[in-house]
Amino acid sequence: MTQRYIIFIRAVVIALVLATAPLFAANMILNQYAESQAEAEMNAMAERYIQRAENAISETVTALQRLDRDDIQTCNTEDRGLFQTVISQVGYIDAIGLVDRDGKRMCIVPDMSLSGEAILPILRPDGPLVGIGMLDKSFMGARVGVVSWDLRNGYRLFAEVTPAAIASDPGPEYLRAYRRAELRLGDDILWFATGGYNSESSDPNNAIVVKVRSGRYPLEATIVSPVSAAIQVVHDLKVIAATACAAFALLFVAIGVWFSWRPESEAHDDFIAAIRNGEFIPYYQPVMDIETGKLRGCEVLMRWRRPNGMIVSPGQFMEYAERNGHIFDMTRHLMQQTCEEVGQMHLDNPDLKLSVNLFAGHFRNREVVGDIKSIYEKSDISFQQIVVEVTERYPLEDLDLARKIIAELQALGVRVALDDVGTGHGGMAYLQKLGIDIIKIDKMFIDAIGDDDSSTTIVDSMVELADNLGMGIIAEGVEQEEQIDRLRELGVTAAQGYYFAAPMPAKQYIEFADKLAEEEREAERIAAEEAASAAAEAAAAEAAA
Ligand code: C2E
Ligand code: CA
Ligand code: CA
Repeated sequence: MTQRYIIFIRAVVIALVLATAPLFAANMILNQYAESQAEAEMNAMAERYIQRAENAISETVTALQRLDRDDIQTCNTEDRGLFQTVISQVGYIDAIGLVDRDGKRMCIVPDMSLSGEAILPILRPDGPLVGIGMLDKSFMGARVGVVSWDLRNGYRLFAEVTPAAIASDPGPEYLRAYRRAELRLGDDILWFATGGYNSESSDPNNAIVVKVRSGRYPLEATIVSPVSAAIQVVHDLKVIAATACAAFALLFVAIGVWFSWRPESEAHDDFIAAIRNGEFIPYYQPVMDIETGKLRGCEVLMRWRRPNGMIVSPGQFMEYAERNGHIFDMTRHLMQQTCEEVGQMHLDNPDLKLSVNLFAGHFRNREVVGDIKSIYEKSDISFQQIVVEVTERYPLEDLDLARKIIAELQALGVRVALDDVGTGHGGMAYLQKLGIDIIKIDKMFIDAIGDDDSSTTIVDSMVELADNLGMGIIAEGVEQEEQIDRLRELGVTAAQGYYFAAPMPAKQYIEFADKLAEEEREAERIAAEEAASAAAEAAAAEAAA
């Protein structure tokens, strides 16, 4: 799986988390709000039921008391006519009549045939004056209440209270189809019940239950509603919240997709994969001593070796690697490889130098000192054999910090070369301020040697400057013998360029060095032989003389 798929999936996951977290929170808050809202509404409903029941009972009691006070206490025609008047005045009352000691009806207005069964309990002398009970008759889910008043002569006036008086409180619309309302007398006599047909409101875990008791009569109202019905009230808000969150999720995903599918990042992924696969390797270009013809060391130059074997030059990737900060890892890895590839060679030849290129970014941070220390400390290449090159082509941002980093490197024994001297804008200021050990004269000036006098003058003054400041000097990009002759005349002692060798892999570089050493030994041997034979000749001549 490539990097961009990982980025893409990460973007989707982050988007989902970012979008669903507020969705969950909004959901919870809205549910809580809906439940407390519903509870308040149900409480108000229950209170209204109690209120109406209380009113119905108390108005009925008052009406019966008034009949008693006005001596309207018999079943005669006149009294019954007055009962009728009360019925038409008090809306709650459906019927009025008298019962005997046994609780059996003696008469009732409006007239109906009397069954002879008891509708009230048998009168007790110590019983309450007001009695409240229920008839078996019912009306729209409500039973008919019966309120009685003890006339203290063995008879009781009674009135039937219409259930319609209390039965019609639909409550808020969103609960209407689901809620169940009950009004009870005492603990178990159900006066009135309505609703609850469309719900599982009997399940106490998913229901909101509200109970209100009357302070005056043994009445209790219970309203039960399923939580799901209450939550409906915030349904619209939830849709809005969900839509908003979904929109955010989409936005985040879109941003994620945008970032992960940019062609730039495709290249980026390949590049990171190449770093991981170790495709960036060192090439080594010899640096020669042009006075003695001996090898002085090498410059390490990075190459990208593609899996198909193609070798890519730094010009194609270095700027990108520097811009994206990959160069830090790449440089570390490059240095590690030098330890493995040419460590033994440097251990065997303590005079050889190894020059590593750094870029301006390495001088923004002390980390490079730690890197060089930790990589070469335990290697076969000593700090004294290492040179780091910093180019003059691009300016260093913080000269003071760069100076400190250079000083720390020098304290280890590492030397610092200024690369591409003459091409940048640093000039003298750089050389002095940074405490440079070596300057590398750019190919541009070497190329011009011979056909351009002013170039010779520039190189001349660079050499003079280097001498004055006690710095070493290396000529870059030497391709012709005449250039070497001219450089010698000017006092330059070190050079690198295709004239000697192009950058090459470690194996070839080691062979190159071995061959040079072999030639040198051969030359020494011949010289020694010649000296010996000359000495022998001289001795023979002397003997002959
Ligand atoms: P540079 O440090 O100035 O390296 C010298 C460049 O000149 C190398 O190019 C080398 O191959 C080339 N060269 C050497 N002798 C001759 C010659 O006689 N004729 C010609 N025409 N060219 C010659 P290369 O290897 O392509 O590197 C280019 C630049 O990339 C380097 O310039 C350096 O600035 C940068 N570079 C290379 N490796 C690294 C690295 O590991 N880190 C950093 N930061 N930059 C690197
Ligand atoms: Ca260089
Ligand atoms: Ca250079």
